Amino acid sequence: MNSSQKTIGVLALQGDFDAHRTLLETRLHTRTKEVRTPADLKGVDGLILPGGESTTIIKLMQRFGLYSAIRERAAEGLPMYGTCAGMILLAHEIYERPEQPSLDLMKITVARNAFGRQVESFESDIPFSPLQKSGETGSDKKEGTVRGVFIRAPYVMEAAPEVEILGHFQDKIVAVRQGNLLATAFHPELTDDPRVHTYFLEMIS
Ligand code: GLN
Repeated sequence: MNSSQKTIGVLALQGDFDAHRTLLETRLHTRTKEVRTPADLKGVDGLILPGGESTTIIKLMQRFGLYSAIRERAAEGLPMYGTCAGMILLAHEIYERPEQPSLDLMKITVARNAFGRQVESFESDIPFSPLQKSGETGSDKKEGTVRGVFIRAPYVMEAAPEVEILGHFQDKIVAVRQGNLLATAFHPELTDDPRVHTYFLEMIS
């Protein structure tokens, strides 16, 4: 499927969904659709769960019937990409907050606001393994990295063996993939670099 023919749903209940739409539409010429109800999921080829406040997003999802609708589409194999709060939504478990509901789609345990209060937000170049050419040595170090914008970000504390680790910040896991599901603790939609979104579009066959 050509990316110009795909329609990417962007969960638009709260958070920075508009930044995802702008990046997909203007940089990647990909059609997007705001998803606020189960009916909006019809006809989407992929779904983005944006950054925002995970507790608010999950409450709104439950209120609008999207919680079960999204889980059903995931079971059918719909590719999904969660950034920051979106990663928390996809996780099986939230560290020290077992009561916080999540979609429980990826076998990861995430810690929320995990980089501490002093470092609420920061940026760093993150090696992103899908962009790193195998066998390459030495050359341009930035080539396989993406600019990671972290805002009160989570990280992955534990991942099951079937979870592929795609990126670290220092010793922390900040990008993962499990089958059709992708999650980053950082926000590529807030940069002008569309390569992580391109990678997600490539996951949609
Ligand atoms: N700290 C937020 C949460 O726990 C996530 C922040 C973000 O998405 N930028 O939900």
